[in-house]
Amino acid sequence: MTTAVVVGSGPNGLAAAIELARSGIEVHVIEGADKIGGGTRSSSEYIVDGLIHDDCSAFHPTALASPFFRELDREFTLADHGLTWLWPEIDLVHPLDDGTAGVLWRDINRTADGLGVDGKKWRSVFGYLSVNFDELVQDVFQPVIHVPKHPLTLARFGAGALLPATALARIWQTPQARALFGGVAAHMFGSLNAPLSSAVGLMLGAGAHAHGWPVAQGGSGAIAAALASILRSLGGTIETGNWVTDFSSLVGYDIVMLDLAPDAAARLLDGRQPDRIARAYRKYRYGPAAYKVDYAVRSDSDGSVVPWTNPHARKAGTLHLAGTISETAAVERQTVQGSMPGKPFILLGQQFLADPSRSVGDIHPVWAYAHVPHGYSGDVTESITRQIERFAPGFRDRIVGTHVRNVPQMQAYNPNYVGGDISAGANTPRQIIARPRFGLNPYATGVPGAFLCSSATPPGGGVHGMGGYNAARAALKSRG
Ligand SMILES: Cc1cc2nc3c(=O)[nH]c(=O)nc-3n(C[C@H](O)[C@H](O)[C@H](O)COP(=O)(O)OP(=O)(O)OC[C@H]3O[C@@H](n4cnc5c(N)ncnc54)[C@H](O)[C@@H]3O)c2cc1C
Repeated sequence: MTTAVVVGSGPNGLAAAIELARSGIEVHVIEGADKIGGGTRSSSEYIVDGLIHDDCSAFHPTALASPFFRELDREFTLADHGLTWLWPEIDLVHPLDDGTAGVLWRDINRTADGLGVDGKKWRSVFGYLSVNFDELVQDVFQPVIHVPKHPLTLARFGAGALLPATALARIWQTPQARALFGGVAAHMFGSLNAPLSSAVGLMLGAGAHAHGWPVAQGGSGAIAAALASILRSLGGTIETGNWVTDFSSLVGYDIVMLDLAPDAAARLLDGRQPDRIARAYRKYRYGPAAYKVDYAVRSDSDGSVVPWTNPHARKAGTLHLAGTISETAAVERQTVQGSMPGKPFILLGQQFLADPSRSVGDIHPVWAYAHVPHGYSGDVTESITRQIERFAPGFRDRIVGTHVRNVPQMQAYNPNYVGGDISAGANTPRQIIARPRFGLNPYATGVPGAFLCSSATPPGGGVHGMGGYNAARAALKSRG
């Protein structure tokens, strides 16, 4: 029987394992950490016992859209394996200093209505892409060199995606619409003035209107648990607490899948790769970092948790805290250039609104992280709290406790986050198009039977499993 080993149990590692197991291969997953899941773990012992915090991923439009997850749901019914998606009333709010906000509802018409004079153009940018989102994903979640399945949809996406986000945003007049788009585009962790920096904004914006930005009931750990449960039902096995440092420990398996950053993969493969590929792995660049703060927050007697000035913000799953698009672009540029902004870009999650099971009585988990420079070793907790206070005066008084994961701790938590880069690679124009290197098969490491399957491969960061799925398909193809 053909055998495979997967190093790393992030969503891509587990997706690769499932795809191989579905093809009748005997699969074993080796995870270094004590808990499976990589970027989809949650914890309930940080501040108040039972309060559920997402350690990393929180909102999952890419999982809903992912051909891999959709196939799994059809075949295995994810809910039967403990994964249920829940949606907040409003997907995203981007507040401004005057108390107004850009508000993104799943319903594009409601979003457009709220954006006033910019509503029509919001619909023209996102209407077609959201209606055709599932087609778009079939092409975008592939390596860039492939025969497009839906060329018209891809061309329509490409026309906007090529633009810098700050240039595309000029289509709108109001600060609310511009800020809303800029905040979504900032998920790429890069300069919003660079070509292709609209790509992530268009994908996540269209994804929001197509599928919403849902959370996993009980915490994102439920995603990893469901994938593991499906894998085990296919005969796969998983071990934890075993950091793989020596390729010779993997010899004997027919297929080796590496859910690793390219530098770790190159170290593990230790001179076995052809020079050309080893050089590409060495040259691969890592981007800015995430600095994470989980808060436990006590609600007020009126039931409000974070005292946002903007009323819509009190119903939103996700908030982007940065102010106008000019401010967002300026702090993102600074971050990319390696200097720490005083008012960093913050992503804040109120998952408990969609999933009340995460709270304990009147205490609620608030999830936040800041974009900070690569490898930054300073303390940013106070800047994050101040940025929340800016749009929610009085927030500080409601904090019961915090749990911080700074940049060095982020990398220690998961070695794939090189220098704190949670995307396992900078989203530069070059690496958006080709990661970790140019080539027809970006998953091949150059070592026969060994494949890279992490988010350092197409389609990049996010919980969608498509790096793992595509890499597994490449491995199967290589065996005929
Ligand atoms: C703070 C934060 C917020 C995020 N928010 C979102 C979000 O809201 N939505 C979203 O879709 N995505 C989000 N992400 C990104 C998402 O989590 C990642 O893109 C995704 O987890 C990548 O999956 P992966 O399988 O490639 O790698 P990972 O999830 O990083 O998994 C890699 C695994 O390999 C293991 N490993 C590494 N080296 C070894 C070794 N030598 N031996 C054994 N095991 C090893 C690691 O311990 C880890 O478990 C977020 C990430 C972070 C950190």
